[in-house]
Amino acid sequence: MSNQTSYIGRFAPSPTGPLHAGSLVAAMASYLDAKANHGRWLLRMEDVDEARTTAGAAESILADLDTLGMHWDGEVVFQSQRTGLYEAAFDRLGRLAYPCGCTRREIVDSRICVAADGAAVYPGTCRDGLPVGKPARAYRLRVPDPGHIDELIIFDDRWLGRMQQHLAIEVGDFVLKRADGFWAYQLAVVVDDADQGITHVVRGADLLDSTARQIYLQRQLKLATPHYLHVPVITNADGEKLSKQNGAQAIDIKQPLLALSKAAWFLGLDIGQVDSVSAFWPLATTAWANLEMTRQS
Ligand code: GLU
Repeated sequence: MSNQTSYIGRFAPSPTGPLHAGSLVAAMASYLDAKANHGRWLLRMEDVDEARTTAGAAESILADLDTLGMHWDGEVVFQSQRTGLYEAAFDRLGRLAYPCGCTRREIVDSRICVAADGAAVYPGTCRDGLPVGKPARAYRLRVPDPGHIDELIIFDDRWLGRMQQHLAIEVGDFVLKRADGFWAYQLAVVVDDADQGITHVVRGADLLDSTARQIYLQRQLKLATPHYLHVPVITNADGEKLSKQNGAQAIDIKQPLLALSKAAWFLGLDIGQVDSVSAFWPLATTAWANLEMTRQS
């Protein structure tokens, strides 16, 4: 599939808690895809939202990955130390970015539409200037009007196939800089993926809905678009993605092989019996490559 010498992948956890079964699946998929393609696997701590970052979480994720035999290439990058890059990209957007004075409540009350991720579609209240008396809270990126050719984003997901999203109707102008002053995930991830030379993004399908925004932003910043692959996410009994917010348990790191086997099973990898972490990875890499071939046929 990809050019075998130039593959750069990454795992980009938010250090809001320890590695749990759900984040291990994303880590494993990105790791195996990098290994199967003889690529590099970078690690980026997405601690741009410092309010959600938990003390010690980054260290515990790194220690767990190490115990699980998942060794990253190069230095770990921390978003909290890269805000200058986000600022510079934001400046390059010029007048495409504009200040917005709307509160979350006002946007919800406008009820124009609900986006796939459950957020209200932004009604465009401040696109032509802040209403008198409203201070700027956040900064948003202007997306093309409905019906404009650039507003429809189409991409081929390596797992899910052809995907598309109408940004104007399904998302609206989206936030680049949040009301609390932090850079938004969408901007930080696009800047970092480009800066780190990421060619292949492999992550959970909970982020599928963000991909069109990221591709649009890459186009505005004249950055390359990586290949995307979104793996299924583990859900709880209520169908919600496992996350620290809904009480996902940390993996039992005393039994690393068990945690790996469960994640591999979830990804549909046929590995058979293995008795050590070091024996697990070559078998899992072959199983991933076979799965990829099945998907392509
Ligand atoms: N930091 C995000 C998360 O942990 C992942 C971002 C990404 O892979 O693009 O959900």
